[in-house]
Amino acid sequence: MDTNQVPGLLDSLGQFLSNYNPRPGQQKMASAVAEAIEERTNLVVEGGTGIGKSMAYLVPAALSVVQDGKRVLIATSHKPLQDQIARKDLPKVAELFRAKGFRPFTFTTLKGISNYLCWNSAEGMRERLVPDPGAIQAINYALFAGPDFSGDFEEFPFNLPPDSRALVSADSDDCLGTRCPHRDRCFALKARQQAEQADVVVTNHALLSLDIRNEGYVIPGTYASYIIDEGHNFEENVTRANGLTATIGGIRRFLNHELVRGAAVTNTHRLSEARENLEKLQDEIASFFTARSGDAEDENRVIVKREISSGKVMVESIKDLLALVKSKIATTEEEQARYQRVIKQGGGLAERLEKISANADPNLVYFVERNYYGLSREPGDPIIKVNGRALSQLTPSYSMNAMPIDISGYLYKWFRENQVVVTSATMSDGQNFDFFTRRVGLDKPATLIVPSPFNYRERVKLFLPRLGTPAPGANYSQHLASRLAVLLNATPGRALFLFTSHAMMEGVWRQLNGPLAENLQPARPLFKQGNAQMQRIIADFQASPNGLILGTRSWWQGVDLPGMRLLVIDKLPFPQLNDPIIKARIEEIDKEGGSSFNEFMLPLAIITFRQGFGRLMRQESDRGVVVVCDERIVQKNYGRRFIKSLPEVELLGNLEQYREFLSGQQALNL
Ligand code: SF4
Repeated sequence: MDTNQVPGLLDSLGQFLSNYNPRPGQQKMASAVAEAIEERTNLVVEGGTGIGKSMAYLVPAALSVVQDGKRVLIATSHKPLQDQIARKDLPKVAELFRAKGFRPFTFTTLKGISNYLCWNSAEGMRERLVPDPGAIQAINYALFAGPDFSGDFEEFPFNLPPDSRALVSADSDDCLGTRCPHRDRCFALKARQQAEQADVVVTNHALLSLDIRNEGYVIPGTYASYIIDEGHNFEENVTRANGLTATIGGIRRFLNHELVRGAAVTNTHRLSEARENLEKLQDEIASFFTARSGDAEDENRVIVKREISSGKVMVESIKDLLALVKSKIATTEEEQARYQRVIKQGGGLAERLEKISANADPNLVYFVERNYYGLSREPGDPIIKVNGRALSQLTPSYSMNAMPIDISGYLYKWFRENQVVVTSATMSDGQNFDFFTRRVGLDKPATLIVPSPFNYRERVKLFLPRLGTPAPGANYSQHLASRLAVLLNATPGRALFLFTSHAMMEGVWRQLNGPLAENLQPARPLFKQGNAQMQRIIADFQASPNGLILGTRSWWQGVDLPGMRLLVIDKLPFPQLNDPIIKARIEEIDKEGGSSFNEFMLPLAIITFRQGFGRLMRQESDRGVVVVCDERIVQKNYGRRFIKSLPEVELLGNLEQYREFLSGQQALNL
């Protein structure tokens, strides 16, 4: 590839994109990506907000495709970015390359099987006595859509409820693949065939991770280069994709499956025995929570360090029922497919349950989890009463899990054997990528930090107020809410409050929405995470001139809210110690003589802090104040590292300066 052509191509992008201005940071990143692809070296690059990161890797990637015939795979963490790259950015790059006389190149999106309508599952709708209206609507749409319809649920012109979607989709546990009678019209297989032919394939971290684990058998074709965007989520996504989960609900659904019940019709005692074993398994899982001391109601996940004996018994019951299903003789190909499907489902379930129950792999952390349907709680939240009943009186849904503690060894070989670019807006601790590269097993890559082109020094201020202690009789959330109400009244415009715990968010919300509501001048629309879908909250927030959103972890990254004036961070975002995966990682580092605080907790908190900070300035014209309410940032030695990790910003000394900056002469001058 002629890497010297990259800057000129980027300069020409303006002809195809409205509001596009060539940016030096983008040029720098694009040149580094081109060089890495050409030299076949690994590169980790942080592209600050506003540099145009995706074009900085798409242009050199496309150039290597058209000049060297190399195929490229791009993996993102979230579907919106995946869709943006495939539907908006790549078509523009293709247009640019066509205009410049290069040969055309092809690109496609590849998602996991469960993202596409499955005809075999649709066929299974016949098993239901009462048809599901959503599922029927989806089937009818897919039947009459044109040949270009991909079957991807994102492409249906209506919202399909999750329960309906589950009825007409499959996953790797029950997809019949080449043995499926519907394989000739299967959307998932068609997507795979297209991926096999395409020059550029856009997928997600989870699918890439499964492909790595299965040595290239999940994503068709071979690729000369891999580009991992939203790299800050890679460790977590790889961890989850390589984990095992078995739920009590999933086992119950298997036992209640029409074909399983039908197969056991002359052996009902075997089905009854399986149901009894399921109750015993549920009791054993519940015992892990009740065995804990006083805070039992406050923990949703408990680490398990021993074999789960009733899980092993349950595995034998599932295998016993599977033998009955296998003995049935199907009379048609469709019936055979339905049997195959339930056999595959049950087989996968038994295999996972067996591994989790055995608790035998020291590289995995085993834990049980409980969820109360419809309630969103995190560790540390207060005990909630539902209809006057404490959680202990409700029946939660339980799951058993096993997740890898350390994925670096598993990824190390893959990184060594492939050419990979990893990028994100926030992956370093502001100084280097040591933490990230160590966690994912990436050995000595080239690195580059391209700062955001935004003028942080003039447009963003940092305020670290001394909040003092609560008045007698008041708790901390009441105290915090009253101080934040003062800040809100000095803020002309929108605000976002980021919390590290649901408990604190709920506490502050109750105050601002209750006793403090009349103190808010002017009144402002309040939005709280969980009160509506995130997209709905964002739309309503954007429609109001002075809305306020209160959110926890999911609002710290990937949320674009231009036009904000105030961003509040309630606490330095150290990882939750009662998260089993975090806890296991901490134990592992300490066991090996390291310092889990310095090597894990602190860098992770700094990266999350930078992500939160990054929510304020989303476009060049944004201007506002970031307020950090955790006094450890000035009182502790490590606090300086948080401040140092940020772009250069000035500190505000007091509320007067805060007011002056946001509404006074300084603001008018900007
Ligand atoms: S191959 Fe068959 S079972 Fe698998 S997704 Fe396609 S239609 Fe469904």
